[in-house]
Amino acid sequence: MSETGLRIRVYGEAVLKKKARPVKQATPAHRELLSKMARLMYEASGIGLAAPQVGVSECLIVVDIGNGLYKLVNPKIIKKEGDWCIEEGCLSVPGVGIKVKRSRKVVVSAWDENGKPLTIEAQDLLACVFQHEIDHLHGKLIVDYATLLDKLRLGKALKEMKGSNQLRL
Ligand code: ZN
Repeated sequence: MSETGLRIRVYGEAVLKKKARPVKQATPAHRELLSKMARLMYEASGIGLAAPQVGVSECLIVVDIGNGLYKLVNPKIIKKEGDWCIEEGCLSVPGVGIKVKRSRKVVVSAWDENGKPLTIEAQDLLACVFQHEIDHLHGKLIVDYATLLDKLRLGKALKEMKGSNQLRL
């Protein structure tokens, strides 16, 4: 358990497969959760974190690839272009890397933490991280992109992870 009081959910926990609820109004509770999520992301040396990963099924994400923190409410991809593919990891699927086909450029529409609408144009790694985090809001994980070969390679690791949730305190 992190000092934020949040715990990162891992592969096999139901909340990661659920579609997150859109936020109707950005409240102080949402702002507090976004701050805690950002702290937890930095503690875990992550570059993105979505609310379902801390057990909250709401459309909130934080992203920081090293040039500024984004705290977003109800993020959506409204435009995408080009192709991009790198091996991605995920704080909820520790120790597993999977190559995921993404778009190279995206436009994200969202609210900031105060509910003010904004659009962000992103490319390369930043675009990839937005796509990864927004996938979490749809209950989608990198393992859902696994090829047959990936599954053979990772089968045992994933099975073990699924069976070991109780031990991850
Ligand atoms: Zn992830």
